Amino acid sequence: MAHEIDLMEKIQSLAKRRGFIYQGSEIYGGLAGTWDYGPLGVALKNTIKDSWRKKFISSRTDMYEVDAAILMNPKVWEAAGHVATFTDPLVECTKCQRRFRADQLAVAGKCDACGEPTGEPRNFNMMFSTKVGAMEDSASTVYLRPETAQGMFVNFKNIIDSFHPKLPFGMAQIGKAFRNEITPRDFVFRVREFEQMEIEYFVKPEDWNQYFEYFKDEMFEWMESVGLDMAKIHELEVAPEDLAHYSKRTVDFEFDYPFGRKELYGLAYRTSFDLDNHANGSGTELSFQDEESKSKITPHIIEPSFGVERTVLALLMSAYTEEQKGDDTRVFLKFKPSIAPVVCAVSPLLKNKPELIEKAQQVFGMLKAEFGRVMWDDNGNIGKRYRRQDEIGTPWCIVIDFDTLGEGEAGAKDTVTVRDRDTGAQERIAISDLVSTLRSRLS
Ligand code: ATP
Repeated sequence: MAHEIDLMEKIQSLAKRRGFIYQGSEIYGGLAGTWDYGPLGVALKNTIKDSWRKKFISSRTDMYEVDAAILMNPKVWEAAGHVATFTDPLVECTKCQRRFRADQLAVAGKCDACGEPTGEPRNFNMMFSTKVGAMEDSASTVYLRPETAQGMFVNFKNIIDSFHPKLPFGMAQIGKAFRNEITPRDFVFRVREFEQMEIEYFVKPEDWNQYFEYFKDEMFEWMESVGLDMAKIHELEVAPEDLAHYSKRTVDFEFDYPFGRKELYGLAYRTSFDLDNHANGSGTELSFQDEESKSKITPHIIEPSFGVERTVLALLMSAYTEEQKGDDTRVFLKFKPSIAPVVCAVSPLLKNKPELIEKAQQVFGMLKAEFGRVMWDDNGNIGKRYRRQDEIGTPWCIVIDFDTLGEGEAGAKDTVTVRDRDTGAQERIAISDLVSTLRSRLS
């Protein structure tokens, strides 16, 4: 356990030191449950989202992506059942008055802070509310969406009217969600503002099980493709009494985090619950004209749901590696090249040789134009640069040296050193072959 806590601290400190993730509003003492992403954290989130979008949207012909507003008509949340039931059980310590989620206490019924008994649990609604417009009356209350899903259901009819899809088809959305978590904790695992990547897949009612299994496989495939440690992922069939109010079947994909085995993603069968409720709530018909049977049906829904922040954390955990060399520990993040925030770093061997710098800048420009995620690094000596790039998970460091300029070994002109992050091995590659070589290793 000490080792595990240690790992969490190491990762959190690396994430801050190297510009992945900072405490939100840090100079003001922070704000619980919020984190700010630095350049490398943004790059990592982008590669995650790009890879998700590619697998689940752009490589398919049956997915429709939307970007709905975060603020929605409050009737959405009434119809969806969130005003009544999107709650967590809140308990308060009878002595120190601290508040906890009843189902997360270390010892049931006892305060985590002082060990005294807690009071009875009460339902605490996790939606953040705010006011729209200049009038601050009850009619102006709206909620920040606690999930992206509803933004898709309310656009179901729009997609049908604009694109006339056939069943089965899906809608997908990547976007922010907000939950007033009682106890945000464990770095970016449980936060109050986060991003979801969700799919609502509409199927004929009798086909739900087939597509549930299909998306389970697709989810596993994606997890493996981004480089999550599959030995740490476990499938949990959620017990009927624990199902969310809208679900008939849910599988959670859990990950072995240092603080325990906890949910990473979810896959839910939502039946026609949402479309039925929004049809009732809005008075708009939300059904589908089935060409085969010539009848109207309300599709059933399979919902694969992914959290971006939990992916970031699980990827950091999966990639973090320490290698002992004598007294020295080499730390590196073993990201897959396709997910790494930086594909390669380009350095001139020495900082004070204009010919080296000029040549290195040419190589840098060429690679930057091709891959985007390329870093210029001429700080400190080469050893320090390798160390830094290892720590941020850059798969390749490219060094321009005197051989490149034709001043060294015969035949080495216009070649560069490419140093591999995982093995430390160095090879010489012709500048003219660099793009195609790296491109082939990226996939
Ligand atoms: P938990 O039981 O851990 O509170 P949940 O079952 O309420 O999670 P869902 O409603 O299924 O979560 O949300 C879908 C996904 O959104 C989760 O699998 C997770 O990846 C992400 N997610 C949910 N809540 C948070 C949060 N507070 N912080 C970060 N990610 C979250």
